[in-house]
Amino acid sequence: AIAQTERLTGLINDISVLNKIEEAGDFFPPEKVKIRKIIKEVRDNFKSAIDLHGIKVEIDVEDDVVVKGNKSLILSVFQNLLENAVNYAGDNTTINVIVYNKDKRFYHFSFSDNGVGIPKEHLSRIFERFYRIDPGRSRKSGGTGLGLAIVKNAIVLHKGDIIVRNKAGGGTEFLFSLPVY
Ligand code: ATP
Ligand code: MG
Repeated sequence: AIAQTERLTGLINDISVLNKIEEAGDFFPPEKVKIRKIIKEVRDNFKSAIDLHGIKVEIDVEDDVVVKGNKSLILSVFQNLLENAVNYAGDNTTINVIVYNKDKRFYHFSFSDNGVGIPKEHLSRIFERFYRIDPGRSRKSGGTGLGLAIVKNAIVLHKGDIIVRNKAGGGTEFLFSLPVY
């Protein structure tokens, strides 16, 4: 009962975030968001799961990377990507976060792991609400399939974009952009 209650609370929170993103505007006045700090905060939140699975998190983002946006939404972006990598990539994998480009308006991030990857027939649907690959494989984590919908909506609200692809050497890579402050 406790586990189900926690699951439902999580679900309601996720739906509430998605609704707020859709109504957007006034809910999210822009702030200075220090990305390195955000990623470290997320990594600390997941420290026990990261250690349990023998995962390495490599952050190649300088201190001066400051995004213009909403802090809690951007935290959700990195939190959902990290949570997914921890849950699905597999044990003893490595997560890499890098800024691979910066132009006048946007930082371009790569968030990748070297784990199992996402079967290519699912790649085009992975950002849909409630879309999960295979209930058998995903069930033990108890997710609902809203994480990547939140990630995508949050990035689109910031006028960025996001794509996903499998890496040549194995693993999943998310490429996305967020505005420079
Ligand atoms: P929720 O995030 O709502 O708890 P969820 O994790 O199942 O549930 P999403 O975050 O949207 O939902 O992810 C959708 C599916 O994509 C997951 O069920 C998983 O199968 C797959 N997936 C996501 N990230 C990865 C990854 N890094 N490696 C392998 N598979 C992944
Ligand atoms: Mg998820």
